[in-house]
Amino acid sequence: MKFGESQKVKFDSESGAYSIVTQRENYDSQITITDAESDLLLVFFGQTNIQIGNVKSNPAKAKKRFKHYPDGKNIDLNLVYPKPEKAELRLYISARAGFKPEAGDVWFLFEKQGVMWIGSMSEAIWRSENQILIYDQSEAEYQDGLQALDEVKITKLKARDQFTRDRRKALRRMEQSNYQCEYDTSHRLFVSHSTKKPYLEAHHLIPMSMQKKVSTSLDTLSNIYCLCPHCHRAIHHAEKPKVKKIIGRLISNRSEVLDLLGNSVEDIYCYYAVEEIVR
Ligand SMILES: [Zn+2]
Ligand SMILES: [Zn+2]
Repeated sequence: MKFGESQKVKFDSESGAYSIVTQRENYDSQITITDAESDLLLVFFGQTNIQIGNVKSNPAKAKKRFKHYPDGKNIDLNLVYPKPEKAELRLYISARAGFKPEAGDVWFLFEKQGVMWIGSMSEAIWRSENQILIYDQSEAEYQDGLQALDEVKITKLKARDQFTRDRRKALRRMEQSNYQCEYDTSHRLFVSHSTKKPYLEAHHLIPMSMQKKVSTSLDTLSNIYCLCPHCHRAIHHAEKPKVKKIIGRLISNRSEVLDLLGNSVEDIYCYYAVEEIVR
């Protein structure tokens, strides 16, 4: 499958693809190339430069040069159409050649500055590295800013928020949501001692860290969802099914967020690295 926005950011490449290595592929030491991967390889190496038939019939033509991620070592792997009707493109993986991912690993390809990179990592590491959500110091400053009443404190907190989010938008969203958790309006909230309103946190569904890639402001009412502290922590830290469930419900409640960057629900899953990865 094609790189989503988070992979494009991580690998600094507009064209990449990834999938999971199956048991069979690992055992047979050959990967069947799927659509997005084959598009990438055929454009890069040129359709006519791909060997048709087995490797032995033309080893020089079968051999293709890749750069291994992340160490940058050059590796040569065989890439062929084993059958004359070109029904399937096949990549031979080999520990000796320097690339032999385990079954269940995510393997990936991406083009950067005229070089085709190849790499693999465990699915868990892949997901954690491709999560572009940030829950850091800056996040705390922002949430605290929503509770602050004093102008000096508000200005100070805003200056420390790396995304300089506008607290008035979040407050407006809370008002519009009747000070209820947008995941489940029955979630019980305590009253904030400073604002005297039910305590909520503001979450940007399209992560603010995407702002460096797009000119459309992500700090907008359509992208801000107010959540109770439990749901807010969950969307950042819960396991995959729970995160998907929260995202799904937030979008079905208010879907304008998708119009912001023309995203699909799958694109949103990608930001959180909870998408289903093809095998
Ligand atoms: Zn958040
Ligand atoms: Zn909640």
